[in-house]
Amino acid sequence: MSASAYMVCFSCRVLIALGKPVMKDAASVDHFHLEEEGSLPNSENPLITKSLWRFLAEHAGHPLRVKSSYEPDFEVVSSFSEIGSDEVGGIDLGGYVDGWSG
Ligand SMILES: [Zn+2]
Repeated sequence: MSASAYMVCFSCRVLIALGKPVMKDAASVDHFHLEEEGSLPNSENPLITKSLWRFLAEHAGHPLRVKSSYEPDFEVVSSFSEIGSDEVGGIDLGGYVDGWSG
């Protein structure tokens, strides 16, 4: 299983999926890719982009971190609410940005 990355707000205990990290080299990420291979880059996907902007606005001033599912303390984060989750009870991206003016 490959790593997934998330932007996490520790104050609100919520995270939003960024996708799979695509590495530039062993130590640095070039970009994240959320959907299946061959689909639009995250930055060209209006729903993903709008969701990220909403997340930033909603959590302005809060401690935000980009976390990988491979980090040892990820267990804590995995209990937070996830925006963009397709699990039952999850918040889908369409619902998250529906009616948002930003
Ligand atoms: Zn927050």
